[in-house]
Formats: sequence, C-alpha cells, structure tokens
Amino acid sequence: MFIKDPCGIACIIVTYIAIFYADYVVVKWIILQTMVNSLWGAFNLLMFNCIIFLLCMSHLRAVLTDPGTIPLPENRMDFSDIHSHSSELGCDFVNWTICTRCETYRPPRAHHCRICKRCVLRMDHHCPWINNCVGERNQKFFLQFLLYVGALAGYSVVLILFSCDDLVTKQSRIMHSIILMLESTLFGMFVMAIFIDQMQAILGDETAVEQVKHQGPYRPYKSKMALLTEYKDALCKNDVGMKLGVCEKTIMDQCK
Ligand SMILES: [Zn+2]
Ligand SMILES: [Zn+2]
Repeated sequence: MFIKDPCGIACIIVTYIAIFYADYVVVKWIILQTMVNSLWGAFNLLMFNCIIFLLCMSHLRAVLTDPGTIPLPENRMDFSDIHSHSSELGCDFVNWTICTRCETYRPPRAHHCRICKRCVLRMDHHCPWINNCVGERNQKFFLQFLLYVGALAGYSVVLILFSCDDLVTKQSRIMHSIILMLESTLFGMFVMAIFIDQMQAILGDETAVEQVKHQGPYRPYKSKMALLTEYKDALCKNDVGMKLGVCEKTIMDQCK
C-alpha cells in the first residue's frame, strides 16, 4: 500500500538524497582521502555501508508495511443498533467507535488518518518521512529506522572529527565535511527527539493521537483474546470477515 501524497513522496526523495550524499562524502572525501592505506579505511567503509543498508531496509519496511488499516465494508452499514443493542444485551462495545468517513466500526484506539483516508489500528501519527501512518504493525520498523538514522548521523560526526586534523588539503573537502556535519547534527537531533517521544509513548502506553486528545493511557479491561474476538466479530458484521473466512457466528449471536 503506497500513499500518493506529494509531501510524503518529496520527504522520501529527500531522505534518500541525504543518505546517498552522506555515503558520497564519507567514502570519497573522508575514507579515500585519509584512510586509504590503513585497515581502518576498509573497516569504516564496511560498517558505514552496513548501517546504510539496514537503514534503507527498515525504511522500506516502514513505508510498505500496512500500519494496521481497518478493512472497509462492502455494503453501506446501518449504525443505529450499535449502542442500544450492545448495552441492552450485555455486550461491552462501549469502547468501539464508528468512523463516519470509512463508514465502519472500529476497535478501541483506532483512529482515522486524513492522509491515508483510512482508519488505522493504534495509530500514533502520520509520518511524511515514511509516507505512511505509524501504527500497530509498522511501529517497530519506524523505531528501527530512527535508530539507524541516529547511528549513521553519529558515525558521520565521529568520522568528520577524526579526519579534520589534516583538513588543509582541499577546499571541496572542507565544504563537504561542513555540509555533512550540519546534515548529521540536524537529522540526528531530530530523529533522537522523535525516538525519545516514541519510547515515552510506548512505555506510557499512550499514542500521540491519544496524547493530543488527552485521553490518558489506554487500559483495556479485557484480555487480548477477548479484544481479538470483538475485532473478528466487527469484521463479520462489516462483511469483511466473511470474505476472509474468520466468521463462525454473527455479532448478534455473540450477544445472546
Ligand atoms: Zn476512518
Ligand atoms: Zn496516515
């Protein structure tokens, strides 16, 4: 699933230009100029490109993995019964909400993304740098991406600092080193701030959307199995579960 958002596509292009520029400066202007005759050169070349490879892999997975979009119903739905029936019949669907844009039921903590135009499970935020939502299923790839960007930025700064003692040679080398230093500091600090924010959200069990809405950390009263059954039942009611073959009984049978 690739979102056709011009801002997201531009951010992805900027990301890859920044990565390959860092590789160009480190290989051509640092390693080949200062470490060509030592084993450090080969070691740094290998390590730096390994981090770039891992960074690109985690980025691509964060971009291309479904963050947890809720399937759309095939037919228009009648929402009039959700609250009355569920409360009368003793089923606890209080936490379930209705998305009027997707015209579907959604489990607790799912939110609608205006850019993706879909509801996403445990949506944290929409990130233009991965042109995707950060949700339940791709958050770990997003965190890996942040860590690798931080590692690459730190590594670049260390390489520049260790090679600046013989910086008198070429003007272009000085220029590229300064640009890479600025780029690394900027991106490094930016991703570390987001990483700390993400870790706080995970440890506090509160997504960015919930923080904005001041909903407080989510504490389910039910086991994960019970929540899974609810999700399955809602899919069945949406006719999506029927197609996926996960339905055994309808939501109303469950309530009886
Ligand atoms: Zn929605
Ligand atoms: Zn989104």
